[in-house]
Amino acid sequence: MGKRILNCDFCGRSASENLRVLQGGNACICEDCSETVAKLFAENPSPNRARPKQELQPLEVPRPAEIKAILDAYCIGQEDAKKTLSVAVHNHYRRIFGRKDNVGKKLPQELENVELEKTNILLIGPTGSGKTLLAKTLAKALNVPFAIADATTVTEAGYVGEDVENIILRLIQNAEYNIERAQVGIIYIDEIDKIGRKTDNVSITRDVSGEGVQQALLKILEGTVCNVPPQGGRKHPHQEFLRVDTSNILFICGGAFVGLDKIIQRRVGVRTMGFNTSDRQQEENTDSVEMKSLLSRVEPEDLVSFGFIPEFIGRLPMTTVLEELTVDQMVDVMVNTRNALTLQYQKIFALEGVELKFTRESLRAMAAMAIKKGTGVRALRGLIERMMMNTMFELSDQTVDSIVEITPEVVLGKEKPIIIPKKKMHANKLGKPQEESK
Ligand code: ADP
Repeated sequence: MGKRILNCDFCGRSASENLRVLQGGNACICEDCSETVAKLFAENPSPNRARPKQELQPLEVPRPAEIKAILDAYCIGQEDAKKTLSVAVHNHYRRIFGRKDNVGKKLPQELENVELEKTNILLIGPTGSGKTLLAKTLAKALNVPFAIADATTVTEAGYVGEDVENIILRLIQNAEYNIERAQVGIIYIDEIDKIGRKTDNVSITRDVSGEGVQQALLKILEGTVCNVPPQGGRKHPHQEFLRVDTSNILFICGGAFVGLDKIIQRRVGVRTMGFNTSDRQQEENTDSVEMKSLLSRVEPEDLVSFGFIPEFIGRLPMTTVLEELTVDQMVDVMVNTRNALTLQYQKIFALEGVELKFTRESLRAMAAMAIKKGTGVRALRGLIERMMMNTMFELSDQTVDSIVEITPEVVLGKEKPIIIPKKKMHANKLGKPQEESK
């Protein structure tokens, strides 16, 4: 039997002395057509293909208590939120990766086909109470990629603003374009409360920044395969996309939800203490406690009254409330966290040969000022920076080996920080002029 002559499945020509035709599987291609195909691929590179698919290493999922211990190292207070988040995040990653020592072991038959739903999380708490910090620290604890987005910059497709896909792009970029890793990352969406409908009556005008955005976010929150333009910006036809499945991405949404307490109050029918205006002091003292306990009673219907569509709320099944920090907790933030602000300044001063001291009362005075500003710990950095700038300006060769003490008067701007040479301080303590010790 003669050898079968191969025909190219693309151009139909037969193999000859001048044309090689190769067979792969059930199809044949000639060398001319293969060159054309290669050229076409080269002219239309796919970012998904350009990077070979990387195997995702299964994650060793830490226990909730281990996750909380890491959160404790960075975040002061917020016990309820830290506990809730630790359990929710543990469950989320257990659902994806299972247990390493359990590989091959079967679950009881009745549980085999039970689908575990994704539990995205809603954080309710005042500005500067640690919402972003908690989300960021969780990603660090789990060693997964992390991205922050601002809900107010997102608009429905077709309107001026960002497409929701850009949120995913940020995560991909932070995962160094490793799509598999990005697909198990964490995204924090800030200012989620700002995309509530402005009024209960939606039908009159199109609500570009409200319901439309909720609809757009809803899709990525519940899990979809989205086409992300690798260069960002608006999508346009003839563009290559990164295809990303958002089903296992954990979304944490946060906002201050100003006014939500009143909605809950109306529902549960509780009057806040100190309602009487003649008792303003009592009102102030009890306000944050009352607000926290009211907020912790939040129900989906309250969020609907706040302006969210029920489907959107349905995609954030876990809600937790953060409190405004107290003066003592603020002091703790300044002193007892990793990279605490006071430690950072003490280091900067130490590099100049100067010892920086804060009295306890000065720290409390700073905390009280920050609380007054109403932006929580956020205000502290600005306060300390402004205060320390003048002091740093005074440093010179003469101040090496000195001690700088910050007192409440310095914080309040009533006095300049006192710079005391260490030798003099030593002499004062001894009550006689300093002699060089050998
Ligand atoms: P939010 O997202 O609630 O507005 P952030 O998490 O962005 O607040 O906090 C603002 C700054 O204050 C960050 O530098 C953060 O590290 C710090 N901060 C806020 N809350 C805490 C806290 N509870 N413990 C330690 N630091 C905090």
